[in-house]
This record gives sequence, structure tokens and C-alpha cells, in this order.
Amino acid sequence: GIQARLNAISAVTNYKPSTAPMNFSETKLTEFFGCNVFNEKVMRERLPKDVFKSLQKTIELGEKLDPSIADIVANTMKDWAIEKGATHFTHVFYPLTGLTAEKHDSFLTPDGKGGALAEFSGKMLIQGEPDASSFPSGGLRSTFEARGYTAWDVTSPAYILENPNGTFLCIPTAFLSWTGEALDKKTPLLRSMQALNTQAKRVLKLFGIETKLPVIAFAGPEQEYFLIDRNFAFSRPDLLIAGRSLFGARPPKGQEFEDQYFGVIPRRVLAFMMEVERELYKLGVPVKTRHNEVAPSQYEIAPIYETGNLATDHNQIIMTTLRSVAKRYGMLCLLHEKPFAGINGSGKHLNYSIGNAELGSLFDPGDTPHENAKFLVFCAAAIRALHKFGPMLRATVASASNDHRLGANEAPPAIMSMYLGEQLTDVFEQFKQGKVNGCKQKCVMNVGVDTLPPLPRDPGDRNRTSPFAFTGNRFEFRAVGSSMSIAGSQVALNTMMADSLDYIASELEKAIGGDASKLNEAVQSLLQKIMVEHEAIIFNGDGYSEAWHKEAERRGLPNLRTTPDALPMLTKPEVIELFTKYGVFSEAELRSREEIYLEQYCKTVKTEANLVIRMARTIIFPAAMRYQGELATTCANLKAAGHDYQMVTLEDVTAKLRSMQKAANELEKLLDHEAASVLEEARHMCDAILPAMNDVRKWADSLETIVADDLWSLPSYQEMLFIK
Ligand code: ADP
Ligand code: MG
Repeated sequence: GIQARLNAISAVTNYKPSTAPMNFSETKLTEFFGCNVFNEKVMRERLPKDVFKSLQKTIELGEKLDPSIADIVANTMKDWAIEKGATHFTHVFYPLTGLTAEKHDSFLTPDGKGGALAEFSGKMLIQGEPDASSFPSGGLRSTFEARGYTAWDVTSPAYILENPNGTFLCIPTAFLSWTGEALDKKTPLLRSMQALNTQAKRVLKLFGIETKLPVIAFAGPEQEYFLIDRNFAFSRPDLLIAGRSLFGARPPKGQEFEDQYFGVIPRRVLAFMMEVERELYKLGVPVKTRHNEVAPSQYEIAPIYETGNLATDHNQIIMTTLRSVAKRYGMLCLLHEKPFAGINGSGKHLNYSIGNAELGSLFDPGDTPHENAKFLVFCAAAIRALHKFGPMLRATVASASNDHRLGANEAPPAIMSMYLGEQLTDVFEQFKQGKVNGCKQKCVMNVGVDTLPPLPRDPGDRNRTSPFAFTGNRFEFRAVGSSMSIAGSQVALNTMMADSLDYIASELEKAIGGDASKLNEAVQSLLQKIMVEHEAIIFNGDGYSEAWHKEAERRGLPNLRTTPDALPMLTKPEVIELFTKYGVFSEAELRSREEIYLEQYCKTVKTEANLVIRMARTIIFPAAMRYQGELATTCANLKAAGHDYQMVTLEDVTAKLRSMQKAANELEKLLDHEAASVLEEARHMCDAILPAMNDVRKWADSLETIVADDLWSLPSYQEMLFIK
């Protein structure tokens, strides 16, 4: 990669900030934040009072939108957007590809007299009609109409996206078929929030707690990513097309020095980060932290947690912004879960809690015995939920790219388990023992009477190997991949929690029969029962260890290593029952998702396999053959000069070239395959194609370590990861 290397070096040394730096001593950050959002402040200022109140009710209390106010809201929104320079509006939606989709329409309407008006009606705000036929629908389309519609999500505010050549208004929407089937990631999320609210309120009521706000889920996703110079990507079709390197020998220096994590951020990268943050501030995304991650050229950005739905939309905005700003700085942002083999991958830790502004987090232990009792019940609900539906939750993070990360040495294994920390585990263990007498020091606790021993609110000794860890006032789900939408896992978590809270509420209601004085006793025995049945999910040890894999098997916790193992969990009878019971997915919607995600898996692997063959033949083979030619010439010259010369390197190159060619041919043959079902096709991709791709790579990477550097045109790991 000589030319790419030189271009990258020049890009690193000559970069200029893409816009003038912002002077935050002149512009107050607090005023700048959210300046492009049609937020509460703007609405309060601009909407008639009764309209504002009605809309606020819909947003905060989840009440139905009053259609009669739509025209006024739309008109106000349009005026605001046009003042900001917008010419178009778009309904933004989240199809099952995991990406963000937008369809732009102009505000302009001809006035019939050769001129034009700016128009935006309530109807245009509330509903859009993109052609749905090019989005995956997984069988939903064959039985229903091809068209779909987008519906305004009042709870996620509209915003303005600025572009040097034009500005437009974005309206977050749900995306449905005309028969009401969800074609997107947002609709089920909103449905799952409702289920969670209903069941959480039943439990709270037993504790005598009324809250006028809905109980919601909070999400705080930590986004990891890689940044490399774009010049390298131009000569790496794999990075450009697949988002990961399909070839590349291990560099002499990887991440073993541990000198990157929290290290000083390179200048160009820091400039990039600041511009990303500035763009995000304008859109009201509360980004808070930035730092170097463990791998070279790997970084993290994390916002402050928000309502699950908003956090999901904001995470999509974060991913889009990272990609687009990187380009302006001559860099490529890789959101792939494993762009570089042998180097840490990227995840998206999903910090998850439930509660609301009045109650705070229901996973917060609290200070009084009564608060503790409530906490224990919600925590027990999570234990039961994860034990019952762990495999389904695992399926929500299954993808071709995340398969390379889960179970590797830096990410949690594919076995779902829960880290509670020793103290909390001990507390639950005591409930399980259920014997009030006969203890020496640690007496069995009485629910609602004893206060919990002080639990670490922010435990320092975080267990990084657990996929689902309690971290003081929330759970951290660490299996989500860096490129994924966080919607799917939240849908699963909300619905699993709703199911367990439903169970708990029913059991407690039955046990106390309206007599509140019996609550503590009833909670005590319910906690015991839950622990007896579901304790197997709790594991505080090293999740990376071989011993845990054995132990998990003994406990009956499945290890669904790959996507074809995991995705069928979405349509297990108990999973269909769960989602239909709470109105989150119909059976058809679930089946469509299983099919779409399996199809995506197959397409991804197939594309990579074709790339492997193409690159092996057109990039690696020619480079190695040129070197072979040079060696052969040298060898012949030496012999002519009277040396009895046997060149080891020439033999080596020749043998490896031959092996690589053979492996590429083998891979090509395997790709010619007919499968009876998409699941079988996925299995073939997993069991036959991926190993065959690795085989080609093995020989190519080995050639990279012997072929002359000036002949090797693929940028090396060393160049990509360390020139910054
Ligand atoms: P760490 O890397 O130590 O886990 P970070 O500060 O990078 O911590 O990320 C923690 C994330 O968890 C942030 O997005 C934070 O806002 C979020 N978070 C904190 N409290 C809660 C909570 N109660 N519910 C959901 N997310 C939370
Ligand atoms: Mg974290």
C-alpha cells in the first residue's frame, strides 16, 4: 500500500478542520444545544396554549393525539423550519435493514398562477406514503399490499438537518403496512413500552405507589467505532464494501501494549470528535463522553441516557453523523463489529433501566426497607425474564458481523447470564434459603423490614465478561453490536420484563387478597420461589473461561454461537406466545423478522465470499506472482553466475500461491449451492462458506508476511491502524 500510505500521511499532516471552530465562550452551549430541534421550548413559544398543552399530554402521558390540532402544529413546524432555511421535509423511519430511511418532499405547492406556496398540512405531518416494496418485509408483503405508510411518532421531536446545499425538516415516524403490520423497528418498540407500563404499574400499585407518568424504559448506548484514513479504504474493496478487512496479516504490534485505552486522542481525531459533538448538540443529542478505546484507532462516544425510544432515534443519528463527519476529515468511520481480525471488536453497551422522572430507576436499591423491597421485586423480575427468554434476547443481537465479535476474547460469550455482584447475589441467596433462624452472622433478611446492606451504586470492580451486568442502578447489556439498532434488544427486554412483572403482580395479588399488611410476607416467599426456579442465570465469574462454558451447559443455559443458531429462537412457541400476548408482535411479524434477518445474514456472507475470491485473484495473486518472478530471475542470475542456488523463499511463495489459488477455487465451488430454505442456506454460509473464506485468507496473509512491501498493494493492518 505505498501510494495509499503516502496519501494517508499527507492527509494526516495537512488536514484542516472542515468548518471554522466554534467559540463556545461567545455562543452559550446551553443555547446551542437543541437549537435545531422542534422541542418543548419552541412549542411553548410558538403554539397556541391549548394546542401546546394537548400535544404535551400526548408526549408525556402517552395519550392519543388529537387530530384536530395537527394542522396548527404542522403549520407552526413549517414556519419554524422555513425560518431555519428548510425547503423540504422528510418522514424518517427505521426499516428492518437496521438503517435509517428518509423520503424528501418539498414544501412547495404550485398556486396555479405560475407561482408557488409553502404548504405543510396536518395530514402531511401525521402520515406519509413511501413505496414500501423495496424494503424487506419477510413475507408480510406477499399476503398484504406492497404499499406502506409512515406515521408521526409524537414522542420523538422533529428536527432540522443542515447541509451546505440545503436544509430539511426531519419527522421521526413509524413504518407500517396498510393492514397495520409493523415493517420497522420503531413500532414494536412503542408497543413494548406500553406493555411494560401496564404491568409495571400493577406491581407499583401493590406497593402503594401511584405515578401519573407512564413507566418507561431508559437506554444509554455506548457507541464504539474505528476511524481510519480514507485513502486506505480506497485501495481496500473489503473495507469499502464489507466494512471489514477480509485479508490482513497480524501487525508486529497490535494492542498488547495496552497503550491506547484512554490515551491522548490524536489531533485530527479530536477535531473530528468535536465536530461530531457540535452537530449532535444542535440536534439535541446529549453526548457526554469521548475517549480512546482498547484497540488502536478505536474510539467511543456515549450520550446521557434517555427514554428508550428517543435514545434509539438518537443512536441512529449518532451513527449517521459519525459516518458523514468522518468523510469531511478524510477518514472512514467503521461501525462494523470486527473490522480487524485479532484486534478488539466494537460493541454497543446498552445501559437499560425502567422507571420515570417521578420514580427514578426502579433498579435503584434505595435507602429504606420499603424501597429495597420494591427494588428486589423488579430485580427478581429481571432475573426471571433473562432466565426464561435469554435465548430470544440473544437472537436480537444476531448478525453476520456480530458473530465475529461475540465469544471472541474481548466480548461477552453468546451464553446469556446475569452478573449481580457478590453482595446482591448474597442477598438473593438468603431469600432462596428462606430460613429465618439458625444463621450466625448473615441473618436472613426480612423484606420490607431490613435494609439491604449498602450496595455499590457504581461498583468499581465491574465484571466486563458478563453479557448482562447489574451496575448499581441499571443493567448493562453488552452483546449488542456496534452497527446495530438498539431497538430490537429493547423490544425484547421491555416485553420480557412485562411478562415477569405480570407474573409477579398476579402472584402477589393472589397471595395478599387485598390485605396490604400481607405484602412483605408474600414478596418474601415469591422471591424465594423465583430464586429456586431461576437462580441458574446468575453468574459472577469469568465469562470468557472454558470452565464457564462447561458450567453453563450443566445449568442448561444455551450457547448460541452463530446467527443461524440464534435466529430460530424468535419463533419458538413460547416466544410467539410472549409477543402476541402483550401485543408487541403478531406471529406473522415475528416470522417475517426471522426470515429477513436470515436473508441478511446470507447476503452478507455471500458478498464477502465473492469479495474474497475477487481480491485473491486480482490483487493478491498478481502481487505475489510479481514477487515470484523477481525471485525466479534472481535465482536464475545467481545460477548463471555459478552459484548452486536453491532459493527457499521462492519455494515458499510458490507453494503458498498454489494453496491460495486452490482455496479460492474451492470457495467458488461451495458458493454454487441450492438450499431448500433460508435457514439451510444460512447454515451452509456458516458451516461451509465462512471456513472456506478463512482458508483463502490464511494463505494470503501468510504471503503478505514474505512478499516485498513495495509490491503489496493492499494497505497493511499496521498502516491502517497506526497512521493517524
Ligand atoms: P461506563 O463506560 O463506565 O459503563 P459510560 O459513562 O461510558 O460508563 O456509559 C454509561 C451509560 O449508562 C451512559 O449512557 C449513562 O447515561 C447510562 N446510564 C446511567 N444511568 C442509567 C440508568 N439509570 N438507566 C439507563 N442508562 C443509564
Ligand atoms: Mg459501560
